[in-house]
Amino acid sequence: MSTQLKTIEPLPVTSVASAPALDRFCSVARTVEILSDAWSFLVLREAFFRTRRFEGFQSVLRLPRNTLVQRLNRLTELGLLQKSSYSAGSTRFEYRFTSKGLDLFPVMLAMLTFGDTWLRGDKEPPLQLVHTACGKPFSPVVTCSACGEPIDAHDVQYRNGPGAGSCPRPTDRKRSRRPSDAQVLERVRPCSVARTLQIIGDRWTFLVVREMFFGVRRFDEFQANLGIASNILTDRLQRLTDHGIVAKRAYQLRPERFEYRFTDKGRDLYGSMLVMMHWGDRWLADGRPPLLMRHRKCQHDFHAQIACSECHEPIQARQVDYQMRYVLEPDA
Ligand SMILES: [Zn+2]
Ligand SMILES: [Zn+2]
Repeated sequence: MSTQLKTIEPLPVTSVASAPALDRFCSVARTVEILSDAWSFLVLREAFFRTRRFEGFQSVLRLPRNTLVQRLNRLTELGLLQKSSYSAGSTRFEYRFTSKGLDLFPVMLAMLTFGDTWLRGDKEPPLQLVHTACGKPFSPVVTCSACGEPIDAHDVQYRNGPGAGSCPRPTDRKRSRRPSDAQVLERVRPCSVARTLQIIGDRWTFLVVREMFFGVRRFDEFQANLGIASNILTDRLQRLTDHGIVAKRAYQLRPERFEYRFTDKGRDLYGSMLVMMHWGDRWLADGRPPLLMRHRKCQHDFHAQIACSECHEPIQARQVDYQMRYVLEPDA
């Protein structure tokens, strides 16, 4: 893929002494930041299971009341949920998805597919999805919006979009923390989406994976592109290796130097990245996507969409039913 990236200009390299380090504008990074807060994620997930009321969220998630209030407010401020009274004059509220929130459904489905494929161990996937439009159990497939064919990372060319550019790197230290542990994210429900977030849901890991899709393989290239501290980079590459996302290979012996390449599992994160990018482009980029993509097979600009593996139609959030392969067990 590296040869396709020539059309994207590198960011200026900033030295330690100069102005604040810069981040490339990236719709995927913005989306990951919203989803990587574990509690917000859990609330959104329950909302996709059609929970609407405060008591409903609380009885399933058993979050401290303040934490739940805070997250519902945050998701409302972000424009993902809207709050309304149960009925005229009632002082009790329910929370429903806005169009922006509902549009996160394909993102959830893409991560679910990755988790179902790679992170389920020897068990069946926790959920069986049913597409009510065609009536069949299905798997989500990431496809090209122009031709409807499945998307492969090798078939995509990139170029700068109208929103290309950079912004000062956030200094909020919390953003670089590692993902919440699995027990929190899988609270109550076994969940393939949570397992995927475990891998890509922290800022630096995600950025390393993104650079790899742009063809970056070597330690010093990651450092130059991301301005990442070497101990953090070492840690994240090690975790990605442990998760089987990347494989490490020596390309030079004296001194020994390594490069990192995707395994098949790692390459399969591409669909999730594309779907997250589309959501970010649609809702967080003011109509100015930072990156444009062309599908080589059909020669059209495209965005990623999720289609049904059985009838091949794009999936709408309200056309999916779930069969749970587990018993819902709220925390005691
Ligand atoms: Zn296409
Ligand atoms: Zn279908």
